[in-house]
Amino acid sequence: MTRRDLLKGLTVIAAGSALPLPLQATPSMKQATQTDISRKTRVIICGGGFGGLTTARYLKASNPALEVLLIEQNRTFVSCPYSNVWLGGVDNVTLEDLSFDYLSASIRYGYEIIHEVITDIDKDAQTVTTDNQTYHYDYLVLSPGIDYDYSKLFPNAATARAVYTHFPPAMKPGSEHLRLKKSVENFKEGIFVITVPSGTYRCPPAPYERACMIAYYFKTHGIKGKVLLLDPREKPATKAKGFLESFNTLYKEYIEYIPTAEIKDIDVAKKILQIETFNHKTLSYTPRSISFAYANIIPPMKPAKLIDIAGLECNESGWVKLKAPGFQTVTHDKIYVLGDAGGHPFPKSGHMANSCGHVVAKELAARTLGKRFDIAAHLPGNICYSMVNGSPKEGIWVSHSISFSKKEGLKATSESMVQRNKQTGNAIASWYHGIMSDML
Ligand SMILES: Cc1cc2nc3c(=O)[nH]c(=O)nc-3n(C[C@H](O)[C@H](O)[C@H](O)COP(=O)(O)OP(=O)(O)OC[C@H]3O[C@@H](n4cnc5c(N)ncnc54)[C@H](O)[C@@H]3O)c2cc1C
Repeated sequence: MTRRDLLKGLTVIAAGSALPLPLQATPSMKQATQTDISRKTRVIICGGGFGGLTTARYLKASNPALEVLLIEQNRTFVSCPYSNVWLGGVDNVTLEDLSFDYLSASIRYGYEIIHEVITDIDKDAQTVTTDNQTYHYDYLVLSPGIDYDYSKLFPNAATARAVYTHFPPAMKPGSEHLRLKKSVENFKEGIFVITVPSGTYRCPPAPYERACMIAYYFKTHGIKGKVLLLDPREKPATKAKGFLESFNTLYKEYIEYIPTAEIKDIDVAKKILQIETFNHKTLSYTPRSISFAYANIIPPMKPAKLIDIAGLECNESGWVKLKAPGFQTVTHDKIYVLGDAGGHPFPKSGHMANSCGHVVAKELAARTLGKRFDIAAHLPGNICYSMVNGSPKEGIWVSHSISFSKKEGLKATSESMVQRNKQTGNAIASWYHGIMSDML
C-alpha cells in the first residue's frame, strides 16, 4: 500500500466518522473504524412493521435533513391484517395482496433500509449492532413487535418447541400463516382447536375473527369440521356481543365457544389437549380431554426479544415503560418505543402502531429541529374491523380514542358496531389498502 493509498483510506474514515483523527491507534480509533458513523443526525428505526415503516416515512418527510435508517430482518413485508380474510377464502384475497417489497417504499420516501438481524444495542455508546455491522445513532426508535411466551402454557421447553412446530400461532406473518392456511385447506373432518391467549396480546379480535373465517371455509366447502374456540375469559376480549351472535347464528354447527378454559397439558403426537373450565356458580373446575384433528395454539405474548437486548425497563404487565403521553422510554430519553411492544394502555393493533408512528415522527422531527411539539394535542387513535361472514361480506368494528390528563394518565375509550353488516364488511378492503399505501 502506498502512502497516497493510506492517506486516501484515512480520509474516508475521517469523512465517515466526523471525528478528529487520533494520531495513534487508540481504542476510540478502533471503534470509529468498526462503527458506521454518520455526519448527519441519524435516527435508526428498528423493525419494519406497522410502527417502524410509518415512523420512517413521516420522520424523513417532516425533517428531510435527518438520516433515517430502517433496520428490518425480513426482506419481504407480509401483513397480518387481512390474513384471516385470506384464510377464509373471502374477497378473493391472495398471498400477493398481503406481500410487499421494502425497497420501493425506501426509494419513494427517501430513507435507507437494510435487512439485517439486530443482535445488540448499546445505550451508552449509542450503537446498534447487527449480524453484519455496528451503526451509530443519535436517536433510536424501536417497533419490534411481539414474541411468544410459551413458558406460561408449557413450562417444558421441548413440549413448547413441538407445539410451535406442529401448531404454530400464526400471530407473526409469513411461514406460520402458510402452515395454517394449508391446514385449513387440507382439513378433512373433526375438531379444529383455536386457543385465545391470556393477558394482553396482539390484535385482541384476531382469534375470534379467525374462528369465523375458518368456520366459513368449512361451511362453504362442505367440510365436516368444528372450530372449538378455547378462551380463558368469560366472554370474547373485544366486540363480544358481535362475535357471540355470529358464532350462534352463522356458525351454530361450526363453532363451539368455550369460556373460562385453561390449558393444562398437551400430547402433541396423539393430538390430545387437557383443559379445565371454571364454573362461577359452583366455584368448581371441570377437567376435559379434547381429541383434535388440528390446533392453532396461540400462547401468551411479551415484547420482542430486542427490548430485552436493549435493557429497557418494562411495566408490571411486561410491556415497555414509556413517559406518557409520549413514546420516550423511561430508561433512556433518546430511545423511543411504539407499536405492540409499548406499555401504553392502547390496543395492540396495526392501526394503532401506524397512528403512533405518525405521532413519534412528528415529535422526533420537532425535537431534531429544536421545536416544541405538544403530544397531548396529537394523541393516536384506533379502528379495528373484523370480517365475520363471507357471503355476503359482513363485519363488525371497534374504535378507540385516547385521552390524557395529569391525574388519570392515558386512557382509551372505545365505541363499537357489533351488529354485523355489509357496510363494515365492504369497508375492510378499503381500510386495508389505505393503511398499506400509508406505510408502503
Ligand atoms: C391474524 C392477525 C390479524 C390482525 N388484524 C389486524 C387488523 O385487522 N387491524 C389492525 O389494526 N391490526 C391487526 N393485527 C395486528 C397487527 O398486525 C400488529 O398490531 C402490528 O403488526 C404491530 O406493529 P409493530 O410495528 O408493533 O410490529 P410488527 O408489525 O410485528 O413489526 C415488527 C418488525 O420488527 C422486526 N424485528 C423484530 N426484531 C428484530 C431484530 N432483532 N432485528 C431486525 N428486525 C427485527 C420484525 O421482523 C417485524 O417486521 C393483526 C394481527 C394478526 C396476527
